[in-house]
Amino acid sequence: MPESEIAGLKVVDACDLDAELRSILRPGEMLRDTQERRHRLPRYFYEVPSHDAAVAINLTPNFGLNEFVLVDLKEAPRLQEWPRYIPCAVRILAFYLQRLRETVGLSIHIAVNGGYRSPAHKLAIAATPHMWGTAADLYRIGTTNLDDRESIEKYRRVAEDLADDLWVMPYGHEVGRADDHIHVDLGYLIHVPREISEDRMELPQETPRFAFEEQRRGDRRTRNDEG
Ligand SMILES: [Zn+2]
Repeated sequence: MPESEIAGLKVVDACDLDAELRSILRPGEMLRDTQERRHRLPRYFYEVPSHDAAVAINLTPNFGLNEFVLVDLKEAPRLQEWPRYIPCAVRILAFYLQRLRETVGLSIHIAVNGGYRSPAHKLAIAATPHMWGTAADLYRIGTTNLDDRESIEKYRRVAEDLADDLWVMPYGHEVGRADDHIHVDLGYLIHVPREISEDRMELPQETPRFAFEEQRRGDRRTRNDEG
């Protein structure tokens, strides 16, 4: 892929996307979580033009954008097509996952559909940080499958010791617990990229609001990832 196509991710204001996408992404709307607490959905998204671009763009040395936009068949059909959209806060999640990877010294594997999930996902019953792009479901670290109490609780402690920002779902079979993966999240974090000019959101604009993220590092453009 020519470098110019992937240099600088495009940031879009989801309020300006077409009606179908707005109804799926619901930018700025309030959503209740399972505890009846209300949270405001994100508004600024990276527009990922193609599978090739998702594979080519890395967010950190070891985490590619594609790992966060792999969706399953329960996702809204429109979000199974390209371009795909993912809240800009995913970059901050990737930063923390990179720190976790460096701490454990092992590869970290994100499940398919373990990154972003839209509010229209068929299993979406309440607000979850997955809808903010700030949660990841990990199914394997190194060669350890995260499917028992010992491994889940071990890495839960590692992650929560790493940063107070990280929350890891405890082991268990009930709602709000996990027994076959590690769910880690940063809460309902919204990221407004510096290149964006925040404006009124009530009506879609005739000229869609978007910006290209400025290049910060050369290594964003290509991945040299061993997992
Ligand atoms: Zn999860």
